[in-house]
Amino acid sequence: MGQNSISWTRFNLTRFDPKRGMSRWTTRFPPGKPQRMREDDRENRDEDGTVHGRMLRAAIERLYALDDISIQHVGRCGVACARWRFALADRLERSLSESALPSRVIQSEPGNGWRRDGGGLLRFAIGDIEVAVIVDDDDFRLPLRAFLPRLDLAAIEPRYDPIAAEFVDLDRDCLRCAIQSFALKLDRRTILVDACIGERKDRPEIPVWSHRSRTGWLDRLRAAGVAPESVDLVFCTHLHIDHVGWNTMDVDGAWRPTFPNVRYLVGRRELADWEARIAAGVAAPMHVRGLRDSVFPLVEVGRVDLVDEGLELAAGAALTLLPGHTVGHIGLRIDRPEARALFCGDAMHSPLQIVQPAVSTSSCSDPQLAAQTRIAVLEEAAASGRVVVPAHFRGPRRVTVAGRGGGFLPSFPV
Ligand SMILES: [Zn+2]
Repeated sequence: MGQNSISWTRFNLTRFDPKRGMSRWTTRFPPGKPQRMREDDRENRDEDGTVHGRMLRAAIERLYALDDISIQHVGRCGVACARWRFALADRLERSLSESALPSRVIQSEPGNGWRRDGGGLLRFAIGDIEVAVIVDDDDFRLPLRAFLPRLDLAAIEPRYDPIAAEFVDLDRDCLRCAIQSFALKLDRRTILVDACIGERKDRPEIPVWSHRSRTGWLDRLRAAGVAPESVDLVFCTHLHIDHVGWNTMDVDGAWRPTFPNVRYLVGRRELADWEARIAAGVAAPMHVRGLRDSVFPLVEVGRVDLVDEGLELAAGAALTLLPGHTVGHIGLRIDRPEARALFCGDAMHSPLQIVQPAVSTSSCSDPQLAAQTRIAVLEEAAASGRVVVPAHFRGPRRVTVAGRGGGFLPSFPV
């Protein structure tokens, strides 16, 4: 790959700011002439600029396979912007002359640009429960028709809601997802629901998740007031690669627990099913890799508790079986005097599946059972006013539902 091959290169950086909603920053780099940031891009900078700085650095390092790049972004003034683009232009000119482009990364992102490591700090409360959202990958895009093959798009489009743009890009046939953990403070316990993608994991099937580094996820966790050593429980709704990654970290070439004091809760049925599939040679290699680097090492050192439906993690917070996406998929159901919620993992991936609840994903192990589970979740939530918190919703991250003529309608808090 030579210099000319970057003619399309574009960075799309997005983050969700709880005060201002989605902010987006885009720039393009034509070959040999790095383009400067437009002046009006300043409007889309963070309060302190640090998140964008990290994202940009990670993006450039990844795209150009650089070891390091120094980008200073120190404040809200125009001077910082100038510094930023100077550093960019300088470094890009050097990188163009010095290195070939890593085709693996480019081919994985045809025309889409960079879309990693978005997020920022997002927090909400459900009754007396504080929830911090720790995003590992924002705006991860899946092909809409292939991922939700039974979706009736004609029925969706007339009801296109403004907030739907957070979740779906119909023009590009994309479902827009967040990969995120929820850190819950419940009584005096800190519980992390799901462990996202992680770093340095070998994920050849999804190159943008493969051998990641400097994603900032642990920094975002700390910024949310959750030190890794303060986490008591990590609960994986299921064992797909986007739910187990941060369970472990690469320490001197070995996979070690990311959280020193944690008990990792893994569904007994879920793990048994994966072990049976591996033994039978029918488990998807992508998820086998995830089990081998993010689950089995924890089992080996005795850090995993195999859990079943009904287990109470705190007062009024119990595990509940939500099968279908995977065989042993579980959720966390909250029934407290002040809070009624369901952290439902991948029981639904998109609000489109609230409007059309029979539509399961192509990644569900039993699509029919997944639909039954989803419909049961939605019926109960509509009847009880329960807040549903799916693993991959962007926007406000949580939703309530209302019954509507045999179907359901999502309602998002502002
Ligand atoms: Zn998932």
